[in-house]
Amino acid sequence: MESIESRLLALHARYAPLSTGETASYIPELMRANPDHFALSLTTVDGLTTSVGDDSIAFSLQSISKPFVYGLALNEIGREKLLSSVGVEPSGEAFNSIVELEKTTHRPYNPMINSGAIAITGLLAQISTTPLIDRILSLLGDCAGRSIENPLRIDQAVFQSEKATAHRNRSIAHLLRHFNVIGDAIESSLDCYFQQCSILANTRDLSMMAATLANGGVNPLTKEVVLAPQHVRDILSVMFTCGMYDSAGEWAFHVGLPAKSGVSGGLITVVPGVMGIATYSPRIDSKGHSLRGVRAITDLASDLQLSVFTSTSLQGRELATP
Ligand code: GLU
Repeated sequence: MESIESRLLALHARYAPLSTGETASYIPELMRANPDHFALSLTTVDGLTTSVGDDSIAFSLQSISKPFVYGLALNEIGREKLLSSVGVEPSGEAFNSIVELEKTTHRPYNPMINSGAIAITGLLAQISTTPLIDRILSLLGDCAGRSIENPLRIDQAVFQSEKATAHRNRSIAHLLRHFNVIGDAIESSLDCYFQQCSILANTRDLSMMAATLANGGVNPLTKEVVLAPQHVRDILSVMFTCGMYDSAGEWAFHVGLPAKSGVSGGLITVVPGVMGIATYSPRIDSKGHSLRGVRAITDLASDLQLSVFTSTSLQGRELATP
């Protein structure tokens, strides 16, 4: 049976030459990423990480922060109250679409697009008695298995770059304020949202974060209960239906796994009960997904029959221990 490491090496060799796509430009600082960087990491629910390529390169999470902050909100605001403010319906629109509010309720469609994520950060900020960004850093650090001596950090240059150019997200926030989804603290909520998007991590961290979701909210290495299992189920549901924006249907069809991508070129994929996978390559397509990452995960899911709709006797059957 082929080992996981040789599978990852083969995927790396297959897609490293792919040179289509560009680094994201609408956040100017993201353009500075090295387009040749490419990393694939995988962590099983037993806590074993296998990794190839540029897996020590830290990059800003961007939208990969969204499922985790949604988990924080499920815990602190509660499922029903949160649902009355942010829906769980795929929007079929681009991540930064301005027409992201439901027609009658004026809720953002879901927590994985900018309007929903900005609403969630705004709602959490309203009830937070300590700086919200510190709690977000701590939650994500616990998912990544980072120690107190080695916490996750914010890329200040990316944060300032997004803050200075975020006219579209600022208009979304004002629309949310207009419909009373969030309160008056628009700029401070947006600052927190931009900071959460600017948190730095590498693919080893991210595969552990994805594995924490695969493991029902328990970090596979530290064994810490980071998220409640019922919240993880909700997070994975919205990642499945909404995590890949306007290509969520294609992704569900070809890959069949909950996933979340970010415009910096990161992508996490969760195989529930089995493992978390993270890829990084900053060349993105017109929908904001990493070109190499999407291809590599599509191949891996197909080779190992990882789709959640694969008959359970076949799913992950060829998964050898690393
Ligand atoms: N910070 C980015 C934004 O709000 C995140 C977008 C993404 O990664 O999809 O525009």
